[in-house]
Amino acid sequence: MQLTPEEILKKRWGYDTFKPLQKEAIEAALAGRDCLVVLPTGGGKSLCYQLPAAMGKGLVLVVSPLIALMDDQVAAAREAGIEADALHSNLKAAHRGAAWQRLAEGKTQLLYVSPERLLAGDILNDISGRLILAAVDEAHCVSHWGHEFRPEYRRLTEALDRFPKAARMALTATATPVVQNDIRAQLGLRSPEILIGHPDRPNLIYRAFPRRDQSKQVLEVVRRHPGEGGIVYAQTRKDVERLAAKLKEEGVSSAPYHAGLSAEDRRRAQDDFVNERLDVIVATIAFGMGIDRSNVRYVIHANTPRSVEHYQQESGRAGRDGLPAECALFFAASDLATHRYLAKKDAQLAPEREHAIERQLREIGRYAVSPLCRHRLLTEHFGAPYPAAGGNGENCCNCDVCLGETKGLPDDEALLTAKKVLSAAWRAEGRYGTGYVVNLLLGRVNDRMTANGHDQLKVFGLLKEAGEASIRSWIDQLVVQEFLEVTEDGEYPLLRITAAGRGLCNGRGTVRLGSPVPPKVKGKKKPKALKKAAAAFLEGDEELFEKLRALRREMADKAGIPPYVIFHDSVLIEMAASKPQTPDDLRVIKGIGEHKLEKYGQIFLDAIKERLLES
Ligand code: ADP
Repeated sequence: MQLTPEEILKKRWGYDTFKPLQKEAIEAALAGRDCLVVLPTGGGKSLCYQLPAAMGKGLVLVVSPLIALMDDQVAAAREAGIEADALHSNLKAAHRGAAWQRLAEGKTQLLYVSPERLLAGDILNDISGRLILAAVDEAHCVSHWGHEFRPEYRRLTEALDRFPKAARMALTATATPVVQNDIRAQLGLRSPEILIGHPDRPNLIYRAFPRRDQSKQVLEVVRRHPGEGGIVYAQTRKDVERLAAKLKEEGVSSAPYHAGLSAEDRRRAQDDFVNERLDVIVATIAFGMGIDRSNVRYVIHANTPRSVEHYQQESGRAGRDGLPAECALFFAASDLATHRYLAKKDAQLAPEREHAIERQLREIGRYAVSPLCRHRLLTEHFGAPYPAAGGNGENCCNCDVCLGETKGLPDDEALLTAKKVLSAAWRAEGRYGTGYVVNLLLGRVNDRMTANGHDQLKVFGLLKEAGEASIRSWIDQLVVQEFLEVTEDGEYPLLRITAAGRGLCNGRGTVRLGSPVPPKVKGKKKPKALKKAAAAFLEGDEELFEKLRALRREMADKAGIPPYVIFHDSVLIEMAASKPQTPDDLRVIKGIGEHKLEKYGQIFLDAIKERLLES
């Protein structure tokens, strides 16, 4: 008898309920309808095409540009008992032969291919007649408007059109409405169901602080997560090398990763990280496309990313398993200038591209310096309301602002301070850069200031006590709130007051300013994170959790697969808390399907028993 999707979910994956929109996507696929699925990282996109494959009604094809991830995805699908394979250029010859063989024999249920492989055309005959669903992962790559355009994605329809009866499913984590339309058109989706999930990641705690001392601030976050997996992103190779050296010096198990290292060094660092032999990777954004480690507990941006989309994607690598994880960003306006310089260095940009870059820099700046709920800022950026319908309250309790770590100045003080900064910019008449206005407010005399007679102005030295760092931060905050603007009409960027800024000085409008002093975050997070994940988690359970983690690593090493493919951390946490004695006890834990129970159940039960006897 054919099982229902719900029954298969329980049997193969050990989950009781679908995550939002999974069921709709699966039903569309099984009914032969096209759909577009936009779900945030960790939203459970892979199950949308894996479950139809597990129904055993035919072949599901998955096109993905992330070749480095495919073998792990195949391993994970096999752990759920699915006949899965991958065909791509990096496959070892022996594996390739076996994969072709299974495909020719009609045994394959789920086949991952790179776009190049599909376009080469040689698999088309083998899949024709059996294909029920073609899933295109990372579908935003088809769009010029997205952030990772891949030309070969534009040609996928050539191949897909050969299978008019197979349903198409396009999946991505982020897509603005323009990108969504492009995906529909370019992939030839036929009256697709549009399934757009809420972009918020409630398990992530966001923090954005002004950068003062990069190494020290990075180290503070790393120290909050001893023994846990984390990624530190920095802007340049030099920053990466310096931070990696610092972490090593402090005894943190870490490695650098950037394009200047040999392919072998990079591969080793990535492998060690995914397989939990290494806790921290310090990387440029060259790192991450091939990372699926589900228990990354923190992502630090030691420099500002180049857009909110990049931030969402890079920080999104934290907490894919749904457990609490931290995303910290250390902002300095100079990072934006570096991004601007790098974007323009090699090529003359078309005006639209240049405007798009400026907009992106403004938006990420606004995210980083506004004393407003970070979950709200990110969610609204992607066009969704916050809190989500049915969500409770204004306070997310999960970002530096809502936790009271970043304090806003009281309203009257913020207004007064803003007026002082704005009057200085007004008096400078938009003819000078930020540095000049800062000097004016600090009361620093120089030849130009004297020649202009600006040392005689009332605003001269008006914020002397506040210090340069604070004034610069307030200027950044006023720029992102559009009371000030940086124009680049001439040779140098000039700071100018906007119409809204003049309005504020004349009593119209409101302003928010954060205290620019980086706050101290208290407390070690680790036990709290574990407790939050399992209601009954007690102090002593942590030791058992670590023991089970070591056992998982040992088994993963032997099998040559990443540990998270065997069990997610959430499963180990549940085991450590509920101490199951029998296979039936294991069945109630979310994330243990029949196949895994059979393969690993007894080994983990034995380890738990041993530990109970010891104590
Ligand atoms: P995405 O590809 O959208 O980033 P994944 O497919 O990697 O997300 O899934 C994220 C996590 O959610 C995985 O750990 C997966 O096992 C888990 N997951 C998927 N579906 C469910 C479900 N219905 N219930 C509970 N967990 C789920």
